[in-house]
Amino acid sequence: MPISMDERYAPIGLLFLIAGKIVEMEDMTVVGGQLGMYTITVIVGLLFHALIVLPLLYFFITHKNPFVFMGGLLQALVTALGTSSSSATLPITFRCLEDKIGLDKRITRFVLPVGATINMDGTALYEALAAIFIAQVNNFELNFGQIITISITATAASIGAAGIPQAGLVTMVIVLTSVGLPTDDITLIIAVDWFLDRLRTTTNVLGDSLGAGIVQHLSRHELQKMDAEGCNSVIEENEMKKSYQLICQDNDNEKPTDSETKM
Ligand code: ASP
Repeated sequence: MPISMDERYAPIGLLFLIAGKIVEMEDMTVVGGQLGMYTITVIVGLLFHALIVLPLLYFFITHKNPFVFMGGLLQALVTALGTSSSSATLPITFRCLEDKIGLDKRITRFVLPVGATINMDGTALYEALAAIFIAQVNNFELNFGQIITISITATAASIGAAGIPQAGLVTMVIVLTSVGLPTDDITLIIAVDWFLDRLRTTTNVLGDSLGAGIVQHLSRHELQKMDAEGCNSVIEENEMKKSYQLICQDNDNEKPTDSETKM
């Protein structure tokens, strides 16, 4: 596909945006150190959420081993890490959950598309941390109310973010404006976002999949009931087909032949 002129200008524009921020800095080493700490904080937060909070939630509700579940999901998690897009990972997530883990198609086909669009726990966690980082870089004291506002708007912004690479960076503007932080400081975190995006997308896919596992467990009785009713409806459907075939045969027999119509 030919590259449009706008796409060619984008890297140059980004270069100047970041260079402008670097020139503005009084002490680059301090901001560099803060950026390093920010990156480590996001990584630790995402790991804690993905390896402790989500598995515990799955375990308490389903009483099954979450790490066995996560083992079957490995291919989807690696794809999320590679593509930074939960939407692009969706076909692999379906395959892992249905073929390897054995979840019901009625659950996965409903839960996963909704999850890939609105359930982004990794993105919400990252957006809240990024907003707090930008506040600290600007020596902006956040009070308790502002921290709560950041948490709520980060959750709402993550719902609005699409399942594509770096979508969370765009919806960050909502979080920053909610507490009056400068939106152009997003350029500070662009440098590390390619990496953090991969980790948060993996967390998003894991959250959607464990969610589907939990929904399957909670709806197991309804699914069994539907299966039982489904058998009846298949029998009814076959009987209806038989009667339809009989009516068609009768109609064919009643149809006048060519010689009869000519007469
Ligand atoms: N890349 C993420 C996803 O696809 C969204 C984001 O946080 O930028 O889930």
